[in-house]
Amino acid sequence: MDAKQLLAEAAALQGELEAIRHDLHRHPETGFDLAYTKPYVRKKLEEMGYAPRDCGKAGLIALAGGKKPGKTLLLRADMDALPLTEEAPVDFASLTPGKMHGCGHDMHTAMLLGAAKLLKAHEAELAGTVKLEFQPAEEIFQGSPDMLANGLLENPTVDAAAMLHVIAGVPMPNGMLQVATGGVSTASCEQYHITVHGKGGHGASPHLAVDPITAAAHIHLALQEISARELEGNEFGIFTTGRFSGGEVSNVIPDTAEMWGTIRTTDPDNAVGERIKARMREICQGVAAALRCTAEVEFYDYCPCMYVDPALGAAALRYMRELVGPAALDLNALTGGKAGGGSEDFAFVSHKVPTVTMFLAAGNSENGYRYAQHHPQVRFDDAVLAQGAAVHTWLALRWLAEHAAPTLDVGGVKTAQELHALLKEKLALPDFYGANWDAFADAVSGLVTLPEKLNFTGWDKLAARLPKDSAILKKILTEHYARTAPGQPPAACLPGMDA
Ligand SMILES: [Zn+2]
Ligand SMILES: [Zn+2]
Repeated sequence: MDAKQLLAEAAALQGELEAIRHDLHRHPETGFDLAYTKPYVRKKLEEMGYAPRDCGKAGLIALAGGKKPGKTLLLRADMDALPLTEEAPVDFASLTPGKMHGCGHDMHTAMLLGAAKLLKAHEAELAGTVKLEFQPAEEIFQGSPDMLANGLLENPTVDAAAMLHVIAGVPMPNGMLQVATGGVSTASCEQYHITVHGKGGHGASPHLAVDPITAAAHIHLALQEISARELEGNEFGIFTTGRFSGGEVSNVIPDTAEMWGTIRTTDPDNAVGERIKARMREICQGVAAALRCTAEVEFYDYCPCMYVDPALGAAALRYMRELVGPAALDLNALTGGKAGGGSEDFAFVSHKVPTVTMFLAAGNSENGYRYAQHHPQVRFDDAVLAQGAAVHTWLALRWLAEHAAPTLDVGGVKTAQELHALLKEKLALPDFYGANWDAFADAVSGLVTLPEKLNFTGWDKLAARLPKDSAILKKILTEHYARTAPGQPPAACLPGMDA
């Protein structure tokens, strides 16, 4: 299939994807509580012929391809919404007050379902396997680690991963696709909560109390020391206290004062973040002690920075230019390689396997789509749904094709010794089998049954030539055919071979 044909096939799904997206948009759910969304996605996948399986608290995995040997590519859509009350003037607005698909994850789910349909239709062309991931709880940075802890990257083992996020409220035509081409593309994020304990009392008698508000104010100022005086010029580390609270009444000194905030860095190992955290603890406790208080500092909901694999990023940009031409942009060239400030929990995956992220413009600010994601009035333009489905599909087709397993023609082989010599040469197999042909047969059987390793051809020619008592080759062939023609007795596949 070529890019033009794929875009046409995706365009034919546009109406169906709009209906899916509107349905999901009316039923937003947050975190892991996807009582409507998850069964909805499961049903759609089953209707397409998939056998989706649960992963973690509320995730789903479905596999496409696997008929031809090759690698496994993970494609991710997140399914969760935000705790926002929708104010967008759309006729498919949220039916649940206090919840809204304000980050476009309904778009992501619809687009990946579109890709699932396209991939199913072209399953025979896939040189490997596509693992479709439908993820909960992205907005609270917990869905990705939960799925990782529950085997997301195993069975089959994932070799590379990709995600697509829509963006609205940008001065960019719909369908513009930004591909991150390497390095850190989004910052890490970690939450903190500081509690300063003093001793409450009457506002008229501060000498009998220990004022936690004064101590918290000093702590707030002292913390600025870290970014102003302790980070090196080329280190990126910002933290912001976004909520500061203490007391309820004007004439009462409270027992405690509290601060909440976030730390962000672009250090893949988070060494900068760990240093900031250590100094925050020291400063909070030291300043609190100087002012007769105590302080507790807690850190939670850590999400690392997103790391894009340069080789995969460059390949993705190339594929996307094949698909949409100049509408595919190199994000690194646009930003000068600077990471964006927002965070994304697919970053956890990016630290395990080569990963690429892409951003699809879905609402031009100069054309009525004024608000960005997470705003209660944000709208996303449905018009890009089909393109999003095509982006996922094309990335999978192209990347798997370029990483297809090597093909080895065994049609000319006559003996186990010859097969050994051939595999040794082509696969750089060590010569550890010696004359132990049983061990060799086991090893080759292993290769034959591991689809990611090798694509064998010519088995039928080899089989036709086999002496009927060639036990070693018979064993190899039996396992090979068990994989490529399951359910068929080897004798049916192999002329000249005993059942
Ligand atoms: Zn979001
Ligand atoms: Zn999002």
